[in-house]
Amino acid sequence: MSTKTIIALQGIKKIFYTQELETLALNDIHLQINQGEFVAISGPSGCGKSTLLSLLGLLDTGTEGSYHLAGTDVSELNHNERAVIRNRDIGFVFQAFNLISDLTVYENVELPLTYGRGLSKAQRREKVEHALAQVDMAHRINHLPSQLSGGQQQRIAIARALVGEPKILLADEPTGNLDSKNANIVLELLDKLHTEGATICMVTHDPRSAEHASRQVVLFDGKVIDDISRDTTLAGVPVTEASSA
Ligand code: ADP
Ligand code: MG
Repeated sequence: MSTKTIIALQGIKKIFYTQELETLALNDIHLQINQGEFVAISGPSGCGKSTLLSLLGLLDTGTEGSYHLAGTDVSELNHNERAVIRNRDIGFVFQAFNLISDLTVYENVELPLTYGRGLSKAQRREKVEHALAQVDMAHRINHLPSQLSGGQQQRIAIARALVGEPKILLADEPTGNLDSKNANIVLELLDKLHTEGATICMVTHDPRSAEHASRQVVLFDGKVIDDISRDTTLAGVPVTEASSA
């Protein structure tokens, strides 16, 4: 497998200022994610998981530090430049699915392709059909989200995240709204996508979900306190030291 670096964070700090209060949500994060990795970010509530994912997804910026995404320094970009890269390179999956309720499955998945890509209708259809086949939902193309189970809705949301062929898929508690059976279906889908080469970064507070990943990064109080990779040659052996300040 290639070892191309997709994500490189150096010395990332994030401070939230609210009224008189300062919250240090991320405290000196150094993190490198390579192409093809399936990374789980775990840790207790409030430790900074969602903040980290928002930064990785260019939904927010750090207070300090640098971020290179696929070799580009994105820490200094303006709002519009970040939006362009976000639309092109990042696929998002959220706990609450976030499908648009009055659009069909087909229209929801097509949405990310409808602006800025210059694709014809036929080209879009081909990509949408491919993405729906990847998540095994091709038979529900004309349904509305309300006509699907939670697990099916999350698979559609994953298809929507994948359809633009992003460099990385970011998922924040993707199984948080699902019963254990549907959660397993979604985790097995992520496993399959990882096997097919997708780069995935998933936030979860559930240790059993984290075990699906090839690497577990554990946060505590805004710091990386553990970073453990597992593959067939190095089962359970830590390959990266937790960052030390
Ligand atoms: P997690 O996802 O691990 O539960 P978060 O990243 O949501 O944690 O939050 C990390 C810390 O930052 C928490 O103390 C939280 O209260 C704070 N925080 C998160 N978002 C904001 C915000 N928009 N404004 C102020 N504080 C925030
Ligand atoms: Mg969170």
